[in-house]
Amino acid sequence: MAVLPILRWPDPRLMTICSPVAEDVSVLAADMLETMYAAPGRGLAAPQIGVLRRLFVMDCTWKEGIYAPQVLVNPEILWRSAETVIGPEGCLSLPGLTTQIMRSKAVQMRWSDLNGAVNEQTFTGFAAICVQHEFDHLNGVLTLDHLDPATRADAERALA
Ligand code: ZN
Repeated sequence: MAVLPILRWPDPRLMTICSPVAEDVSVLAADMLETMYAAPGRGLAAPQIGVLRRLFVMDCTWKEGIYAPQVLVNPEILWRSAETVIGPEGCLSLPGLTTQIMRSKAVQMRWSDLNGAVNEQTFTGFAAICVQHEFDHLNGVLTLDHLDPATRADAERALA
């Protein structure tokens, strides 16, 4: 396993729509989890390490001592709750920046695991925020893209 360098905004690979995974990604996923834990973060999407494929890893509870790594390959959002929440989000590719982002309160997702088995789960709470954030990365969308122009300009100045 290896800890990989994490790309930072404004690397253009972070603004790219990723293509579906067709190959075995078990080694990549193990490296992504190691990279995420080392960062330290709770989620990491493949484009953040320069791999433009549709997968992300997350573990929403490890910082509280409960290790629950998940690997979501070719994820799709099947349903989003109409009810939304606004909360602070950081991003390993936007170091030092925390912004208030509106998200659906719950999302139902379908994805493949590393064995190719199809999973479906409805995420709520922090996990719902995390999966929406990581899913955005697969479409080249960053938290910056959710901000109004003035807030975004401030955020970009702070990052630069
Ligand atoms: Zn991120």
